[in-house]
Amino acid sequence: MYVLNDEIRALGESVIAEHEELAHLKHPVAPCRIAYMYSDKDKSHRGRTVYADTTKVSEMMQALTGYDFVITFYGHVVDDLPEAPLRILMYHELLHVGYEPETAKCWLIPHDVEDFERIITRYGLYWLEEAQQKQEA
Ligand SMILES: [Zn+2]
Repeated sequence: MYVLNDEIRALGESVIAEHEELAHLKHPVAPCRIAYMYSDKDKSHRGRTVYADTTKVSEMMQALTGYDFVITFYGHVVDDLPEAPLRILMYHELLHVGYEPETAKCWLIPHDVEDFERIITRYGLYWLEEAQQKQEA
């Protein structure tokens, strides 16, 4: 079941505040409105666990819901993640939200590679696996 989640929203707002390049997502002036959701179902795609994803809301649903994007965190995998990788995960999802000031358009930015180049540069390609290993150790 999908539910709006205040903890995930607080995490999103905190990560937005931390990164200057996400200033266009700052509440309440943000032209791209984000709903933060939690799903208690585990999710996988092509055999890999999906920890979170970002979805662009259709025009009809934008009118109905007042949101342009939905960021969802999935299942027990995110419940078990410590704060640091959760923040990187949120940063990753927020990088999917594109905004063009001239046209006031919001769009979904696809991955540069498997992850965003910026995240790999800063945290390494295997940041999530490393965090999980540290957690298990
Ligand atoms: Zn992604």
